[in-house]
Amino acid sequence: MKQVLIFWILFSVVFGISGMGMRIVVTINPYYLVLNELAGDLADIHLLIGPGQNPHLFSPTIQDARALNQADWIIANGYGLESFLMNLFEDLGSKGKQVTYAGMLIPETQLFAKYSTDYSYPDSPHSKDHDHGPINPHVWVDPVFMAEYIVPEFADHLSKMIPQSAPLILERAKAIIEALEEFTIVADAFFSPYQGNTIVMSHPSFTYFFRRFGIDDAAVFLGESTEPTIEDIRRIIRTIREQKVLAIFGELHISPKSLETIVQETGMQSPRQLNTLGWETETIAELFETNFQIMKCQIQ
Ligand SMILES: [Zn+2]
Repeated sequence: MKQVLIFWILFSVVFGISGMGMRIVVTINPYYLVLNELAGDLADIHLLIGPGQNPHLFSPTIQDARALNQADWIIANGYGLESFLMNLFEDLGSKGKQVTYAGMLIPETQLFAKYSTDYSYPDSPHSKDHDHGPINPHVWVDPVFMAEYIVPEFADHLSKMIPQSAPLILERAKAIIEALEEFTIVADAFFSPYQGNTIVMSHPSFTYFFRRFGIDDAAVFLGESTEPTIEDIRRIIRTIREQKVLAIFGELHISPKSLETIVQETGMQSPRQLNTLGWETETIAELFETNFQIMKCQIQ
């Protein structure tokens, strides 16, 4: 028996085969958290874009490409978030690999254009053609999108991949959905007195979250880089002077320097960083809870 076990361990190490069989590769941590809660003990789940890496700028290594090639199921966000992986995904998809884009699970009518944060600038060149611009890809920050579309679809897909564990997976999905629904009720009660006010963020990563609760948002910059232009900073300073701005938030993978200028110019409270990808959180509900605690500290 012992020899069989040693053989199996060696076999697994040499051939990189998990005893659990199914290999799932997930691009970003929020979906990894969900998958891990649903089936961390039932499948081999690999996170592609790790701590400290910016999904907008992530470029795959040869090892990453190999992991994707060997995956039974790939989960990405889509809508251009993983811009440097899209060609690879399309290639794998055309060869019959199952690739699920979480963004595509949300009805299109509920999505916002990437440049919709320009709403407060009627003179903006983007304000007229919202419908034709690219989509804001950060859908995972909306607990309702998660509870209604993303978690149910992941659970359904997993149940078909691992049918013998389907009842367990669906039971776990139900618990996650309930936690997200409870969070939504609590967050809604907190934000309701602030409806119509504005939040400034370094880039439009929490748009779906804030708008879910009736809060407008303005992003310092709309691009995928880590530094805004001088014009971006001027535009935000104007917003803060003209509108009721509750708070400014930064992000872990974005340079805080530009926000310091805004704070100095406007006298706003120094921004705290939001944990958009949920690093060092164990569950998807904890990702929401962690960010909500940061927001509550800044909004009074
Ligand atoms: Zn982003």
